[in-house]
Amino acid sequence: MERLRLDPPALYLDAQGNVPQFESVRQARTELRVGGSAQAAADAGLYAEAVGGLVFGDSRDGQDPRHFLTHPTASGTHALTLGARLLAGMPPTRRVYLPTPSWSNHQRIFEEAGFEVGHYPYFDAHERQLDVDALVGFLCRLPDPAIIVLQASCHNPTGSDLSRDQWDVIADVIKALGHIPFIDMAYQGLGDTLQNDNYGVTAMADRGVFTLVAQSCSKIFQLSETRCGSLSAYCPSAAQAQPLARTMQSWTRMDAPPASLGVVARILSQPGLRKLWQDELNSMRDRVGQVRAALHKTLCRLSPAWDWSYLTHQRGFFSYDPALHPASGLAEAAALPDPRIVSASGRLGISLITERNLPQIAHAIAGASAP
Ligand code: PMP
Repeated sequence: MERLRLDPPALYLDAQGNVPQFESVRQARTELRVGGSAQAAADAGLYAEAVGGLVFGDSRDGQDPRHFLTHPTASGTHALTLGARLLAGMPPTRRVYLPTPSWSNHQRIFEEAGFEVGHYPYFDAHERQLDVDALVGFLCRLPDPAIIVLQASCHNPTGSDLSRDQWDVIADVIKALGHIPFIDMAYQGLGDTLQNDNYGVTAMADRGVFTLVAQSCSKIFQLSETRCGSLSAYCPSAAQAQPLARTMQSWTRMDAPPASLGVVARILSQPGLRKLWQDELNSMRDRVGQVRAALHKTLCRLSPAWDWSYLTHQRGFFSYDPALHPASGLAEAAALPDPRIVSASGRLGISLITERNLPQIAHAIAGASAP
């Protein structure tokens, strides 16, 4: 049985079962050692500008730059925490709604910031697909404006993403009803291209909707030990942006810059390194797609009566099949090379599957889901 070499929190294994390090990151680290700490300090502004460019894409073009704020954070999770703190200081909105399902730390982060947390429908477990009508209906029925946490680019634990059309509908509803979107985006470029994966952010900004974005560089630069991220805000007016910019500046004075800030700033601002990084990110995305296709093909052969199409419709590191619920015994089954491949809730860790362990995993899944 293959032993998975997995050092949390890195969750992606390459074809050989190793956690890869990007060559672009290695080269940037080498250059930084030459540049020294004075250069690293100068990189904070460069980082905010470059990461803001990833988050907002071309929605910044031709717009007043004062409407777009980006603050470096220690991680995507840290960005969520700071964003929740920022929103807590903006009464009267006291309720936050999270998708069902979502990540468990979402609930904790918003409760600790003093919010009441509710849940909106997102995934129809029976149909194994997104239920956007239920989502929109829910938003429309909320009695008051609320904070709506949305996940961009394969960040939902089900691997089910909103399409562009669905983002447009949701952005229209959010604008009409005065809700505040808080978009959590940790996998930009791993669902689709960098430009397509931030569509939800641009859909909001293009409509002039005040929006917060918690972004993470941890996965997309494979920074397993020294993570970093950003909190961005789109403000429809410079007057609204001003107090937020002041709060972010006060954080900058208080907090040490994230450890990998210089590395990411360098990669994004030097065309050669940026191209190398994009190629590495694209290869990672393509490989995850190939694993999905191979698992789908094997399961169709092993268990043809079952509908496995969700594997290729869903994207990114996770898939969700309610049939793989713990009641099936799959997570505990010795048949799995690593119990983390199926979580207690039935989430499949696609990014932990390699060519070598795939046959064993497929047999275990087919066995557990047999009628
Ligand atoms: N959002 C949530 C809810 C997370 O749990 C995580 C971590 N897996 C992230 C974002 C990604 O951010 P980071 O790893 O940089 O904390």
